[in-house]
Amino acid sequence: MRVLVTGGAGFIGSHVVDLLLNAGHSVSIVDNLATGRRSNLNPKATFYEVDIRDLDGLRRVYAAERPEVIDHHAAQLDVRRSVADPLFDASVNVLGGLNLLNLAVEFGARKFIHISSGGTVYGEPVYLPADEKHPIQPECPYGVTKFAIEMYLNVYQHIHGLDYSVLRYPNVYGPRQNPFGEAGVIAMFTKRMMNNESLTIYGDGEQLRDYVYVGDCARANLMLLEQGGSEVFNLGSAAGTSVNTLFSELKAITGYQQDAIYAPARPGEIYKTYLDAAKARAAFGWEPSVHLTDGLTKTVEFFRQVEAGRVTG
Ligand code: NAD
Repeated sequence: MRVLVTGGAGFIGSHVVDLLLNAGHSVSIVDNLATGRRSNLNPKATFYEVDIRDLDGLRRVYAAERPEVIDHHAAQLDVRRSVADPLFDASVNVLGGLNLLNLAVEFGARKFIHISSGGTVYGEPVYLPADEKHPIQPECPYGVTKFAIEMYLNVYQHIHGLDYSVLRYPNVYGPRQNPFGEAGVIAMFTKRMMNNESLTIYGDGEQLRDYVYVGDCARANLMLLEQGGSEVFNLGSAAGTSVNTLFSELKAITGYQQDAIYAPARPGEIYKTYLDAAKARAAFGWEPSVHLTDGLTKTVEFFRQVEAGRVTG
């Protein structure tokens, strides 16, 4: 199948590209390298350095590649930036997303997979684990723009018959995550522990998130090529892990000697969220397979290889 992966130079998108290629699909990538890296690009995919806000540039890609499926990972995903500059956030996540959607219709694509954020669209959940029926109540513009494309997809399905799937990701972690990015607490802790740098935990450290290994999330994309038509699915483990637990697990794996420094909680941060993925299990048999301790060990191993210059990251 011909699949166009947007954001394929990024952390999660690059794992999706690798899995698709291994499964024998033909893959093209659109990425403007805003946060993605050339070193993440799989050389077997055709790479287009194009911004998803550039409609003409995208049209040339669609004309050359004629993608059957668009797997949309490119995004502005910095929550604080979305608060500081909601116009920029919407320009990438809404207008860029609409460019991709309109071209999917124009070029007769079969399916559009949109990556949304289960940790954001539900806001501070009123029950846990949050399933797909949980009220939508994002607390930041990024959550609004992620959900907006979900709504457009529903409308485009009705008007144009474009099939789609939405994946609401939990907190994804693993190799290639940017240790300096805002979302990647595991990558950031790992890097700082390996360098024996001090580490600050904001709040009491008991805030809960649903951490799922990147390979598990990437696998769901592959499963959706043929299944899960025009539905929304959470990915998650239905269990929350605290920042304190992450800290002590990573401390044991890396051999870090220092204690965490505690600082006041950041205003506006969601306290507890984790996701029920029973719908994905029932519809297409997805469930996470990598246990947190194993995933953390793999992640630390990756960053050690990077430090040793054996892989780029
Ligand atoms: P990432 O920053 O590594 O990947 C995003 C990619 O999009 C990058 O390669 C970046 O260069 C590219 N990009 C950004 N703006 C672009 C533009 N205007 N045009 C073209 N390309 C552009 O982040 P990630 O963690 O791999 O996130 C991938 C997707 O998963 C995003 O849609 C994000 O919202 C979603 N998501 C991630 C998490 C997580 O825990 N990391 C959780 C929920 C949802």
